[in-house]
Amino acid sequence: MSFTRPASDVLSRLGKVALPDEPAFEGSVTVTFPGVAAISLGDGTDRRVLTSVLEQLGLSVHPLQSTDFGSADLRNYELVLTSPALARQVYTRLGEHPLQDAGAYPAVVSICAPDQDAGAAGGSDACITLPQDPAALLAQLSVILYAHRAFARRYQSAMEELRLNRRIFRSVTSGISVADATKPDMPLTYVNPAFEVMTGYSLEEVVGRNCRFLQRNERDQPGVALLRRAIANREQTTAVLRNFRRDGTSFWNELVISPIRNRDGELTHYVGIQNDVTARMEFEAALRQSEKLAAVNRLAATMAHEINNPLESVMNLLFLAQHESDPQRLKHYISEADNEVRRIAVITTESLRFYRQSTRPRAVDCDDLLTSVLDLYAPKLSRFNIAVVHTRRAHAPVVCLESEVRQVVSNMVRNAIDAMRADAGRLEVRTRVRTGWKTGLRGVSLTFADTGSGMSTETQQKLFTPFFTTKGYAGTGLGLWVSSNIVERHRGHIAVRSSQNPRHPGTVFTVFLPFDGIREAPAPDLPPEAVTSLLPAL
Ligand code: ADP
Repeated sequence: MSFTRPASDVLSRLGKVALPDEPAFEGSVTVTFPGVAAISLGDGTDRRVLTSVLEQLGLSVHPLQSTDFGSADLRNYELVLTSPALARQVYTRLGEHPLQDAGAYPAVVSICAPDQDAGAAGGSDACITLPQDPAALLAQLSVILYAHRAFARRYQSAMEELRLNRRIFRSVTSGISVADATKPDMPLTYVNPAFEVMTGYSLEEVVGRNCRFLQRNERDQPGVALLRRAIANREQTTAVLRNFRRDGTSFWNELVISPIRNRDGELTHYVGIQNDVTARMEFEAALRQSEKLAAVNRLAATMAHEINNPLESVMNLLFLAQHESDPQRLKHYISEADNEVRRIAVITTESLRFYRQSTRPRAVDCDDLLTSVLDLYAPKLSRFNIAVVHTRRAHAPVVCLESEVRQVVSNMVRNAIDAMRADAGRLEVRTRVRTGWKTGLRGVSLTFADTGSGMSTETQQKLFTPFFTTKGYAGTGLGLWVSSNIVERHRGHIAVRSSQNPRHPGTVFTVFLPFDGIREAPAPDLPPEAVTSLLPAL
């Protein structure tokens, strides 16, 4: 006796499906075998011996005519024993059927003559030689039957597991997709019905494609970058992406992808679980919008207060001017009123700048930007005897909204000058490539270290609050508030250290900007008209 095909081949023929790589399904699977063998041999001793051996194995024996192959339901038999030529026909016949229940399919055994080449039995699962001793024949057929039943049981377990998985996949409301990680560009191999409902694409339409088609042209989303990084590191991750349905409408997809490994630890698949979180995203956006409106309201109230003082001065000065006949004094009142009006203009401009829509981000060399700002302040710096040391170690550009970052830098330099104007001092400006301490992103830090007056703890606590200033009439208290908003928008942060110790007073501001912190100029949370419409009401 010889098995002519390896077990996996037998199974793949039976099921046309390779067995899953995972351990067999552990649940109880009852496999019933028909207990019938079919023999297609002419009458004679061989047939009688075979029949008696098969009966000893508990099988009932049916004759099978070669003409029956077309009509006989081969699935009713456990074993089919026949000549090599007919065995091949049976085999082909079985291969023509889509197999639902491969456990009930028969093992095909060729009966060869002693001088017959076993290779001639290529169309069967096993081959036995006749005539031979009945005891040996019994042993051989018993092994064949045992092997066949063992395969069938394993196959049934595996099929049961697949069916169970399929039932789970079909019943869950989350979209499930499976991608083949061993093939180039990781094509999808499966999506469940919930995925089809969520996206409008059918299983047939998506199998073989990389699932990025769901993003259409929006490839630069932060969520996509997160996915790329996780795939490169073969990690699980969760990302929220803007995806498009088949009909072109968009939805927010919260996607969890997990790598699947085989027994040897090799990555074979990615499984994606996706949920439509559009409603949640819209709710969060509405919440942000209302918070922004509340902030504008707070700003408007504070601005009304801030503008009221200079406005009252202007009214008083104009009243005095109207009743003044001395040209010298009149000139003085008008000039004072002019100063007050300018101050109002500064407050409104600074506030509006915060809400203004920015231009597109671009790669900016931070050292060049620092040089150009320092050049602007050169006359002032030399007037107050302030020495500037600029150490350039940025090496790579930062993608940012240039005019906004310029505003931050300019505010830092102006504050340092204000802190040192009473005494000659030194301003050290340094750039350096580093990792952000809050986000772990790589980027450039810009340090502004001055030898100025330093700040009290109380001042340090209020620094970033709008309208907080210690400069009285000369300050607006908006510089650091606007700066921190700009830096946060770039996913960066500002740190500050300060000392009023008379031996080494001074302040160090460090502004960290990630290399790639901003991809697009953020759409204004509020349309400019909404802001300007609030201002006249002040
Ligand atoms: P303004 O400069 O109009 O006061 P800012 O928001 O830019 O508004 O600054 C707020 C306050 O922070 C300043 O009034 C000052 O007290 C303090 N400050 C900022 N930078 C420095 C510095 N380099 N040294 C000392 N104090 C500073």
